[in-house]
Amino acid sequence: MVMTEARGASEITDPAQLRQQLQDQGVRFLLSSFVELTGIPKAKLVPVTHLEDVAKDGAGFAGFAVGNMGQGPHSPDIAAVPDFTSLTVLPWRPDVAWVAGDVHVAGEPWPYCPRGILKRQIARAARLGYSFKVGVEPEFFLLRREANGSVSLADAADSLAKPCYDQRTLSRNLDFLTTLVGYLQELGWDPYANDHEDANGQFEIDWAFADCLTTADRFIFFRYMTKVLAEQQGWIASFMPKPFSHLTGTGAHFHMSLWDAAGDRTLFHNPGDPMGLSDAAYQFIAGLKVHASALAAITSPTVNSYKRLVMGNARSGATWAPVYVCYGGNNRTQMLRVPGPGRVENRTVDGACNPYLAMAALLAAGLDGIERGLEAGPPEHRNMYELSPETLLSEGIAVLPATLSDAIDALEADEVVRSALGADFARTYIAAKREEWESYHSAVSQWEIDNYLDIY
Ligand code: GLU
Ligand code: MG
Repeated sequence: MVMTEARGASEITDPAQLRQQLQDQGVRFLLSSFVELTGIPKAKLVPVTHLEDVAKDGAGFAGFAVGNMGQGPHSPDIAAVPDFTSLTVLPWRPDVAWVAGDVHVAGEPWPYCPRGILKRQIARAARLGYSFKVGVEPEFFLLRREANGSVSLADAADSLAKPCYDQRTLSRNLDFLTTLVGYLQELGWDPYANDHEDANGQFEIDWAFADCLTTADRFIFFRYMTKVLAEQQGWIASFMPKPFSHLTGTGAHFHMSLWDAAGDRTLFHNPGDPMGLSDAAYQFIAGLKVHASALAAITSPTVNSYKRLVMGNARSGATWAPVYVCYGGNNRTQMLRVPGPGRVENRTVDGACNPYLAMAALLAAGLDGIERGLEAGPPEHRNMYELSPETLLSEGIAVLPATLSDAIDALEADEVVRSALGADFARTYIAAKREEWESYHSAVSQWEIDNYLDIY
């Protein structure tokens, strides 16, 4: 139970006392970490003997070397100031503790820090009397790279047409999964369900929901830990949204609810409502629907994300991914599913998302729905994959963006979501994603060679 102790330690606010406690439990190093625009963690390894220094001044980095941090090679250092409430002792390496940081420059919060962007929305929600809780359902593939460079499933026997929940396939992977889930238990995250997912080679690990910042930090750590543990087996754990065109893609569904500012009382639950939702929950849903296209640019942030948000082409029979802007009850063809009373599941979010940005944008959109008293409209009960183009048109059902390029256009046009990101960061994000799209679009693919080369 190393981690439970460490989280206890993290409640100590005096850095000298925290250092002593960590040293007493055998921690020798800190991974003083933060993420940039893509959500990929960066870190410095700091001997725990220097914890007081890093607590005061942060760990220093050349921002331009990191990625998109709003800096050039001439800019002053960025400093990742650790938030010790996120302190997490590496379960496989208990002499090292990871900690998430908030980026500062010259002593001031830096507007290009995704964690800072989420904290700003959390503060805004608190001013309105709300706190935001989120649970995430991360899916991932376990893969291996062959000598010839090709990628195949880590478990070569995982070949059923409908592998979801398959007990024998799950059992062949017990060593990896029980190690991973055991670590989550040690960390005190309360994992409660794990399954073989709908694609060959794909798994999902679920743990208890928490305040949005805690869940975002944990999702960052979870991706890192899963990738490290897979690497130790010679495998790749991939959270890429759609690694195989014929298999179901990789979601990271967010289960969301608003609570009172103290986080004690849910404001989404109404036992008298058919779906168990309050008026505020319906207005939050309405906000997510109104801003759906712009939100996609954040929750589904890569070129590849849009190859997941389709309804055909999955070997298992369904992609289980949303295509239309809609909500409904316990129905997995919806963009927003209400699986039970008092919460809303957003199924657009994928494994490549930056959870800080995704949560900030979703919270801002939901709050906009509440502030403007927007109407969610009637819930959907149909199999959305079966609706004809005529029905979609006559009922005015909106389609999620088909490409990253379309999503970025929608983000550019959406003042609410852009201002949640902050004007400077939004501009940088839009420019970076346009560049990503153009780089992709300018590459001639094998599909084009196969379909055009000897035709035209
Ligand atoms: N893997 C599916 C997706 O891309 C979701 C499957 C599920 O419902 O858990 O969203
Ligand atoms: Mg799933």
